[in-house]
Amino acid sequence: MLLLILSCTAAPGGPGSSNADRASGAREPRAPAPGAPAPGAPTPRAAGDAVLGPGARPQTHREMVLDRDASRHPGDGGGSWRGVALPGPVEVGSPVQLVAEYVAGPVGIDEGGALTLIPSPFWGWSPPQGHTPDEPGFTVIEAPDGIVLQPRSGGGQLSVTVGGRALAPGEIVRFTYGSGDTARVDRFASRAAALWIGVDADGDGVRSVVPEPVSIEVVAGPAAQVVAILPSAAAPGEVVPLRLAVLDAVGNAFGRWPGTLTLQASSPRLSGPAQITLGPDDEGLATVQLVPEVPGVYTVTVAGVGPPVTTNPLVVRDGIEPILWGDLQIHSGLSDGTGDPAEVWRYAREVAALDVAAITDHDHWGMRFLDAHPRLWADLDRAVDEAYEPQRFVSIHGFEHTHWLYGHRHVLYFDGPGPLLSSLDPATDTPEELWAALQGRMALSVPHHPAGGPVPIDWRRGTHPVLEPVVEIASVHGQSEDPSLPGVIYDAVPGAFASEQLQQGRRLGLIGSTDGHDGHPGLSQLAGGHGGLAAILAPQRTRGAVYQALMARRVYATNGPRIVLRVSVRGAPPGSVLPAGPPAPIEARVVGTAPIERVELVGRGGVIGSQVGTGSLLFTTWELDAPAPGDLAYVRVVQVDGGLAWSSPVFFDPPEG
Ligand SMILES: [Zn+2]
Ligand SMILES: [Zn+2]
Repeated sequence: MLLLILSCTAAPGGPGSSNADRASGAREPRAPAPGAPAPGAPTPRAAGDAVLGPGARPQTHREMVLDRDASRHPGDGGGSWRGVALPGPVEVGSPVQLVAEYVAGPVGIDEGGALTLIPSPFWGWSPPQGHTPDEPGFTVIEAPDGIVLQPRSGGGQLSVTVGGRALAPGEIVRFTYGSGDTARVDRFASRAAALWIGVDADGDGVRSVVPEPVSIEVVAGPAAQVVAILPSAAAPGEVVPLRLAVLDAVGNAFGRWPGTLTLQASSPRLSGPAQITLGPDDEGLATVQLVPEVPGVYTVTVAGVGPPVTTNPLVVRDGIEPILWGDLQIHSGLSDGTGDPAEVWRYAREVAALDVAAITDHDHWGMRFLDAHPRLWADLDRAVDEAYEPQRFVSIHGFEHTHWLYGHRHVLYFDGPGPLLSSLDPATDTPEELWAALQGRMALSVPHHPAGGPVPIDWRRGTHPVLEPVVEIASVHGQSEDPSLPGVIYDAVPGAFASEQLQQGRRLGLIGSTDGHDGHPGLSQLAGGHGGLAAILAPQRTRGAVYQALMARRVYATNGPRIVLRVSVRGAPPGSVLPAGPPAPIEARVVGTAPIERVELVGRGGVIGSQVGTGSLLFTTWELDAPAPGDLAYVRVVQVDGGLAWSSPVFFDPPEG
């Protein structure tokens, strides 16, 4: 079994892992990864005999290498694959019948060779099967005379072995997936939801997929909720956009929803319309212009679809510093996510109201690997540049270096398109080699889900002092900052939490991002329960300004909600390095999206201050009398609804001279 269909988000269940619902957030018992060491087993070793860190996935890594190095018959992945009776747009989760034909290529398929029908392996397409007409996913397969097909299903796929005689060039095998209304489509919407065919032409067990899938449009389900987002900061008198999006139950957008939403501002000093009517062609989207007249904190409550919702807080003050909201780790259908890049950008801007976003598809993971398909990588680069609108929307080039031994890092290029540096390329298959290849560029690598999830970061290999100013601590996988907080990442490894690494002297700013695969950047919590956002304190919406803010660690993290968190230490912003010695007064101002349970000050050794909340606003001060070299200070916000925010730390150094 050498075509790997795994997901960064899934519990690594092995090749062809089931399309179990990755986004449910449910705490299902997770089987150990294939080859994961049994408790008490000797520490696994990598090539070169390096001792691997806890949580490494040597078996997954080995399978990827074997698959890459397998010799392929010239007919593997050959032939063509076409839809012959495809339905129009289908609502998520609905019954579907798809008829598609495989046409054998110039070398045909030997007796003993196989074809494998593979719906997008994630999100709940019915697994195809060729045995039981009344069961979900029943697929009828028709072949020319003299061919006997032997079906076998498992892992969300249906393989048929060719028998009787060889399939000659140009001969056709026809698949009717969902014969008898038994199959259901994906639960996440995309205009190109894909059905793939794998071809093992000689029957040696090594196969490749035909490069182009058959695809259909899957659209949102019935309207179930509204998402309403305001900017977090504005000056009095400034016109601010309120973004409204009517979504289905799991956050799919762009459905048809004619109707009226009513808007109730928290104060009459926030002027704007009291309602907005959406037409059938508005795709459930609207932007309303509002004007806050005087300084203060404002929200708007929106009713009309599902339970009423209240926006994130808008803080209005003269000279206020903007907060740019970013999702710097998004997957698309180019690797193992949902949607093409244009769909993802549209959701990022028009639904999630993001200011900054990066599609960071996997280097070597999914149905077609970017490191083996330069055209896909070029398509992504083009889509990133098309989406960039300086001062309005910052799209960033990048990819994920998906290393199953040392941990996952995504690379962001701020100076234009850059090379795809594969975690399976011997030249860039260690963190050190990756960093060496990034030298001289406006580029960052960002360790993510560091404490666990798909694979933790192997911190013993260090972080790069320049290229890695920040770590992603919150995403759809849960939070990796501290085991004492809610929403801890699954499969956590003691010692790998960001709090533990900061205590050991590592200098990292803190961000969140979704690592979402469902086509809903910025809002992975709608379907997955957990989210992540990067609050970027940059004065301009440009790639350069965002890069400078990240380099200076002028950022903070949340697990999804747009909590406003302003912290200063001796008047300096988080991320700063300050001289040790003199007293360090600390101010924290929090405007929550829900009642605040507590705000904590973390210093050397752990929590050194805590303030209980009495509502959604909190202002508090602390003072460190005489911070010593190596001390640090950062602020955590814990809301009663599980919403979390973390400032980046301030670090103390020996005083000058
Ligand atoms: Zn990852
Ligand atoms: Zn990822």
